[in-house]
Amino acid sequence: MPHSFQETAELDCPRCGTRIRAELWLIVDAAERPDLLEQVRQGRLHELTCPNCGPVGQADAPLLLYTPSPSKGEGRGGGLPPFLFSPAQSTTAEQDQEHARALLTRLRASLGPAWQDEWLAQGLPALP
Ligand SMILES: [Zn+2]
Repeated sequence: MPHSFQETAELDCPRCGTRIRAELWLIVDAAERPDLLEQVRQGRLHELTCPNCGPVGQADAPLLLYTPSPSKGEGRGGGLPPFLFSPAQSTTAEQDQEHARALLTRLRASLGPAWQDEWLAQGLPALP
């Protein structure tokens, strides 16, 4: 079962009103999909493209980035959980919490025994 997860969103182009179908990645496993990690780094992961006008900006969607360490004691260290949550823009703090919880629940299910409860002991690290 892949760890990364995408959802199909439909919305109208803000410029011409054409229906846009977008595949929005909501969970990215950096080890599994380095191509998606690259898009995250470039800020292009949630870019929307209208069939008429081309790129029309960013979708307002949350992202859970999972960055498994190569081995114990390496990489992030310090007991930091191996993920980052980036909330959607126009959402309340409660909605962000809900998004984070839903995405974490999904990630936990796909990781199985690799999941560690202690990852959440210090709360969820969020990017503004
Ligand atoms: Zn358009």
